[in-house]
Amino acid sequence: MFNVIEVDRLTHYYGPRQSLDGLTFEVRQGEVFGLLGPNGAGKTTTIRLLNGLFTPTSGTIRVLGLDPARQGEQVRARTGVLTETPALYERLTARQNLMFFATLSGVPARERAERVNWLLEQFDLTARADDLAGAFSKGMKQRLALARAMLHRPELLFLDEPTAGLDPEASAQVRDWIAEVTRQEGMTVVLCTHILSEAERLCDRVAIMAPRRLLAVGSLDELAQRLLPGQRLQVELYEPCSIDFPRLRALPGVLGVETGANPAGPARELVVQIKDASIVPDVASALMQMGARLLRLQPEHVSLEDVYFKLQQSAEEVRA
Ligand code: ATP
Repeated sequence: MFNVIEVDRLTHYYGPRQSLDGLTFEVRQGEVFGLLGPNGAGKTTTIRLLNGLFTPTSGTIRVLGLDPARQGEQVRARTGVLTETPALYERLTARQNLMFFATLSGVPARERAERVNWLLEQFDLTARADDLAGAFSKGMKQRLALARAMLHRPELLFLDEPTAGLDPEASAQVRDWIAEVTRQEGMTVVLCTHILSEAERLCDRVAIMAPRRLLAVGSLDELAQRLLPGQRLQVELYEPCSIDFPRLRALPGVLGVETGANPAGPARELVVQIKDASIVPDVASALMQMGARLLRLQPEHVSLEDVYFKLQQSAEEVRA
């Protein structure tokens, strides 16, 4: 797998004010990569640098093997960008908008109509293709803007807050389309979002930023293992049972056992703190040997939100 983006010690200033401080990360071909962080962290600035709209103060960037600061046009010919505010002509229809931008972005004349029709279909806009974009709802405009960004079959797509300001239903639709269309077209995607559940659903790996710098990069599993080691395993028994707690605690990989009830009496529910999921079968067989009849054995899910707030909290403690 090759890296579509390679960023090494990237630093950028707006005049005297530093906006990015030593960012290093890579994005692999075909993945959806999330760029997450609070307002003003530097996500949009990073996207602009990756597209060659700004020049780094120091550090290097390679996008599709090119240097965006010197080869910006070549980079932009192979990438698509959805900015926070969709750039569309309100007085043109959806189809006219797409035909116009298809011409601008160099889609060959004989392919334009077919490409536009396919995208209108993919984004569920065929029935409204000949209505003015100005009459569209915010969600429809966003879908049209996404279709626009994908006209020239970009190898790499930058999506800056693609669901900002949309209602939950429109957001879910846009998310589904992103997942589906990028999968079909095999694109690499860089997604900036504040919505952690959105990133968790769409991203293979994420970079989590604090203002100006990167706090961590990895998949949710990797970050969870690194930042929140150990896992909670919820156990529910079919009927109360006397548990041999010392024996359970002594199992390799078991870090602790909690029970809400009197530990001396029979238990019906307990929480076992384990090193990782490989310990679950051992806990199950130990409990069964103690005569327990298992009803439910469920490792608690660590969410991207858990990881994100853990990182931001640690960063604040370092700053304090
Ligand atoms: P948001 O989530 O609010 O969009 P962001 O993570 O995308 O934020 P940026 O827009 O990249 O953050 O901004 C990073 C920092 O750079 C902020 O402090 C911002 O005020 C500053 N900044 C952004 N654009 C400019 C500009 N054109 N001139 C000067 N400073 C800027």
